[in-house]
Amino acid sequence: MSTLDQSRYLATPIPGPRSQELIDRKAAAVSRGIGNTMPVYAARAFGGIVEDVDGNRLIDLGSGIAVTTIGNSSPRVVDAVRRQAAEFTHTCFMITPYEGYVAVAEHLNRLTPGTGEKRSALFNSGSEAVENAIKIARSYTGKSAVVSFDHAYHGRTNLTMALTAKSMPYKHGFGPFAPEIYRAPLSYPFRDGEFGKEIATDGALAAKRALTVIDKQVGADNLAAVLIEPIQGEGGFIVPADGFLPALQGWCRDNNVVFIADEVQTGFARTGAMFACEHEGIEPDLIVTAKGIADGLPLSAVTGRAEIMDAPHVSGLGGTYGGNPIACAAALATIETIEADGLVERAREIETLMKDRLGRLQAEDDRIGDVRGRGAMIAMEFVKPGTLEPDAELTRALCAGCHAAGVIVLSCGTFGNVVRFLPPLTISDDLLVEGLDVLELVLKDL
Ligand SMILES: *Cc1c(COP(=O)(O)O)cnc(C)c1O
Repeated sequence: MSTLDQSRYLATPIPGPRSQELIDRKAAAVSRGIGNTMPVYAARAFGGIVEDVDGNRLIDLGSGIAVTTIGNSSPRVVDAVRRQAAEFTHTCFMITPYEGYVAVAEHLNRLTPGTGEKRSALFNSGSEAVENAIKIARSYTGKSAVVSFDHAYHGRTNLTMALTAKSMPYKHGFGPFAPEIYRAPLSYPFRDGEFGKEIATDGALAAKRALTVIDKQVGADNLAAVLIEPIQGEGGFIVPADGFLPALQGWCRDNNVVFIADEVQTGFARTGAMFACEHEGIEPDLIVTAKGIADGLPLSAVTGRAEIMDAPHVSGLGGTYGGNPIACAAALATIETIEADGLVERAREIETLMKDRLGRLQAEDDRIGDVRGRGAMIAMEFVKPGTLEPDAELTRALCAGCHAAGVIVLSCGTFGNVVRFLPPLTISDDLLVEGLDVLELVLKDL
């Protein structure tokens, strides 16, 4: 087990000499298309700390984009991976199946919202699982159109690029995109204020706006699925107004349209519930998971109502690596850790701590337009004081300042003006507070 000291420590300027050497090697060896947020190379990570190759210890408020939710190299996961790697590394579940895959499916069926009979299928990445959810919905309904939303992020493969909203950097120059994808307006309370107080706070009204677009521009008879993140991730940690998601789901149910929740970023305790849909009281027909599912091992899943999941013909779904045995062992250990260590409750404690602290910061700083999110998925949206005009420049400078001071933070948002926090749930309060202290100091200096 790792003994990484849980404290921030700067041994060198950021980046240090060994990281700089790797930055130069990367530039010569790796495609420019693969960018980096942090200018340092990781050597070890545990709890709330990432240690770089120069011995700098950084506070981790990103969890590798909401992946190491239970903490990097979590002890049960390390044991399970070691054990499974020694037994067998791969047989292909479509050739010689194994128990771990079935056990993960059983847990997913048990843990996801909805009480009816369910089935799951396992894949490798979030994008791949989203693609498969669309295939399943098309197979079940015999229809082809799919609706996704403004500010949506669903991945970078061809179909998921089409589903993703933001052009630069995700889609720019990479078309043509998959056909039969339509976009509907989201409920974005902070920015909907521009269109009146009512639509900003009344989710059913915002849903009506979206459903009018869907009805008039697509039509339920052509529509296989409505796909939505219950809290938008890359789009800016946007929590829709109360009632928005239930209204969309109700319409889908009435119109034989499959309602798919993309919980790739929000799933597995991240938002203070096992799945974010629970906050909205909705039971999606299909739910897509990845990121936090296996503490960093590549694994993703589609889970949902048995009749929909069983619609594709035998051998219509699959993939060489989908549900790899080591990734399944890691997922089983991850689920055990979340349940045994009370990590759903821990995410709620983190929400209280962060919203209290960031709320106080907002009260005295009119550049912070909004503080929002749920659980350990919290964000601040930056604007020019007194307006809704996004301040991406400030956001960039704030992130860079935090990075130089040894705190890993990420930005997001359609307008690049949102700082998001995704700490591992195993971070201590002290370390979390220290990270926010650094952020406050950097912000006050800008
Ligand atoms: C990250 C993400 C994806 C894509 O997952 P990959 O594993 O990167 O393919 C899809 N949907 C959401 C909501 C995500 O956050």
